[in-house]
Amino acid sequence: GGFESMNLSPNVFRGVKRKGYRVPTPIQRKTMPIILAGADVVAMARTGSGKTAAFLIPMLEKLKQHVPQGGVRALILSPTRDLALQTLKFTKELGRFTDLRISLLVGGDSMESQFEELAQNPDIIIATPGRLMHHLSEVDDMSLLWALLNSCIKSLPNLLRTGRPCFSAATLPSALAEFAKAGLREPHLVRL
Ligand code: AMP
Repeated sequence: GGFESMNLSPNVFRGVKRKGYRVPTPIQRKTMPIILAGADVVAMARTGSGKTAAFLIPMLEKLKQHVPQGGVRALILSPTRDLALQTLKFTKELGRFTDLRISLLVGGDSMESQFEELAQNPDIIIATPGRLMHHLSEVDDMSLLWALLNSCIKSLPNLLRTGRPCFSAATLPSALAEFAKAGLREPHLVRL
């Protein structure tokens, strides 16, 4: 099946087409229907396989549109600042026909400007772990803090979704076991 058979909303589908994607890559064909159905996925595939879009497109589809006072509904944790910036650009491109709000929380930008962004009620936060923890420790608005923490916990699987495929065969099983304990619900394991 192509993207047409995935029942994406018109605005998300348009973003995919505008990005120039005609057919899903193998990792997308395998993982997107599972994520869209609401299950957790641990995907392992090389850079270049299209795995970023494999979780970004279903994420956009699930969020659909900005919800005023909806709080943070998605968190993408990236291991590095560069990868977070790249993911921000990618998310904006794919989501260009939606009104979803995205905030970037990475080191190097001032905490103040990031607090202002958080006050804009983002639907999506793209962060590096260090800067996210820093914000969590400084937040004095309890409802925002809870929203962030909740979203953190719910989104733990994204650590693996965005992570570079840096697991060796020897370390993979224990790493997966840790993430499963940290909040994945019977994750589907997709390897390529
Ligand atoms: P990634 O593996 O996530 O680093 O993506 C590698 C490259 O493939 C990126 O430049 C994506 O924009 C591109 N890409 C992802 N999905 C598709 C697709 N279905 N068709 C064409 N290019 C794609």
